[in-house]
Amino acid sequence: MRIAFIGLGHMGGPMARNLVQAGHHLRVFDLSAEAVQGLVGLDAQRVHAAASPAEAARDAECVITMLPAPQHVEAVLCGTPEDPSRGVLSSVPRGVPLIDCSTIDPATVQRLAQLAAAQGNPLADAPVSGGTGGAAAGTLTFMVGATPDLFAQVQPVLQGMGQHIVHCGATGTGQVAKICNNLLLAISMIGVAEAMSLGAALGIDPQVLAGIVNTSSGRCWSADTYNPYPGVLPNAPASRGYSGGFGVDLMRKDLGLANDAARQVHQPLPLGAQALQLYELWSRQGHGQLDFSSIILLLQGQRPA
Ligand code: NAD
Repeated sequence: MRIAFIGLGHMGGPMARNLVQAGHHLRVFDLSAEAVQGLVGLDAQRVHAAASPAEAARDAECVITMLPAPQHVEAVLCGTPEDPSRGVLSSVPRGVPLIDCSTIDPATVQRLAQLAAAQGNPLADAPVSGGTGGAAAGTLTFMVGATPDLFAQVQPVLQGMGQHIVHCGATGTGQVAKICNNLLLAISMIGVAEAMSLGAALGIDPQVLAGIVNTSSGRCWSADTYNPYPGVLPNAPASRGYSGGFGVDLMRKDLGLANDAARQVHQPLPLGAQALQLYELWSRQGHGQLDFSSIILLLQGQRPA
């Protein structure tokens, strides 16, 4: 299949690579020339660089976007007010499905889906979980918001990048699943960070405490797979200076999306609001690029090493 792939960052780069390995032909675009060259260098026969999102989409049979935030997705699909002809929608053939894998808000997805539908292109939201490791290994989970027909159409493409392709419901529900999961993850990480910090301050060996938690009722992914206390899990970001992993600023963005969406439906998020403030503060102190589990250092009054 001829696929336009736009956004070749930490996630999009390895996802696009897996599509090439699955035998697809790609036309790619990113603001970073280095990211584009990385992909073209992989297989110059089957990967071609495009000069704009519109050029990438011109003869595509499917368009995939993997971008940071709502404003980037809107700019790539619609172009800029000064130059709408750079956008995907200005060139993509009628009927070609658009798949947005970025984490953005459900309302923007629904609005962009209406714009795309008006010119005959169905749009599915398909945000992912599994992180950069899952993107490289092709084991991502995709949470897909689409009509049943569109889901059936995009599922084979997503299978080239992921292991679990879940149909969540109508357009926008993939994003609903994603932001609710990340809301819970942000809160559970702060909870584990508090408990580990208190235990260490009161004198218990953090390894012993983590072992108890992980076989008791406090067990959760933030404790048993991604523990924020350095040295407890050798492969967790906490044990390598909080480098790599999922950045504070991306978590901050996702918490902002959850809090905004909650306001629209009048749903209180007392812990979500507090979690957002803590990540805001930590980012403001200059740590936005660290892994989000570094929030434990804020609670301990420490700076990164
Ligand atoms: P990233 O910042 O590494 O990559 C984004 C890429 O988009 C960059 O290469 C950037 O140059 C490109 N870009 C930005 N604006 C553009 C534009 N107008 N036109 C073309 N290219 C543009 O981000 P990422 O970590 O790959 O995350 C992408 C999305 O996936 C985000 O929405 C994030 O929340 C979500 N996500 C990330 C992870 C993770 O672990 N990193 C996990 C799950 C979901």
